[in-house]
Amino acid sequence: MNGTCFLSVVVPMYNEQEVIETTYRRLTSVLESIGESYELVLVNDGSRDKTAEIVRGICASDPRVKLIDFSRNFGHQIAVTAGMDFASGRAVVLIDADLQDPPELIPEMVARWREGYDVVYGKRAARKGETWFKKVTAAAFYRLLRSLTSVNIPLDTGDFRLMDRKVCDTLSSMRENSRFIRGMVSWAGFRQTYVEYVREERFAGETKYPLSKMIRLSLDAITSFSTKPLKLAGILGFLLSAAGFIYLLVVLYQRLFTDSTTQGWTSLIVISLLFHGITLSLLGVLGEYIGRTYEEAKRRPLYVVADRVNFEAKPESAQE
Ligand code: UDP
Ligand code: MG
Repeated sequence: MNGTCFLSVVVPMYNEQEVIETTYRRLTSVLESIGESYELVLVNDGSRDKTAEIVRGICASDPRVKLIDFSRNFGHQIAVTAGMDFASGRAVVLIDADLQDPPELIPEMVARWREGYDVVYGKRAARKGETWFKKVTAAAFYRLLRSLTSVNIPLDTGDFRLMDRKVCDTLSSMRENSRFIRGMVSWAGFRQTYVEYVREERFAGETKYPLSKMIRLSLDAITSFSTKPLKLAGILGFLLSAAGFIYLLVVLYQRLFTDSTTQGWTSLIVISLLFHGITLSLLGVLGEYIGRTYEEAKRRPLYVVADRVNFEAKPESAQE
């Protein structure tokens, strides 16, 4: 059956035991209403709870449900990548397990795809039940990213989207470790459009994206799609040299034409602190890039699969 189904729906799961049954039921009723063949590719990203067991139970009763079981937690973007590697549909939908993105939008996405679009992403008209902190940081991040990159990454979208097989294959051929799928889809090009929706509250469980993971994802996004931060050192260096030169003239003037030269402790301390701060921050920026270059240079597999359920043969595109 590999390679022949109409639609694949990829769902990454990390400690989602409270939501799986409901998510499965809602997705199934929506997908059955489309009236075409489909598969549900559930990726268990090293959950510590009963996620894997529950999914195995569902797999046993429904052959359209497939499980990819990671050997440990590899992170959301990697889990989605694995799901795309193993998905066989002519179109692939990415959706979170917590139903914050309504499965009922999928038929609309399919309709746009049938009109000839290759990517249909969900655009958040509003976000419900998220803290003001998350809303403000997300809005700031998207705008910062937009100003830094030349890739046109749409504002206020998540990974909830439908992609044609050719887009999915393009992404599967990109094996970088630092993955920011939204950006990679924009980079890939093709005909893209969107449908708008209201992002709901997570209906059970807690967010699996603490601040640390959000910062990591933001840094991955920026470093993968922009080298502007690296140029910061040059720009700042130039500005500070210019300021330094002006101050040099002032000091020389004071030395030669006035008798007020022994002051200056404050300015020395200020300059010293300021310059050390800037130098260390810029070293940090360099570190972010060098660290990622190092990670990529190792060319490790993106993920390790411990087990697969309900898959017939290993597809060629999957490079574990
Ligand atoms: N997720 C994952 N691995 C992780 C963290 C999250 O597979 O390390 C999954 C999670 O199960 C969910 C999706 O990624 O299906 C989005 O996570 P979440 O809803 O917690 O993020 P938020 O909506 O709060 O940004
Ligand atoms: Mg969520």
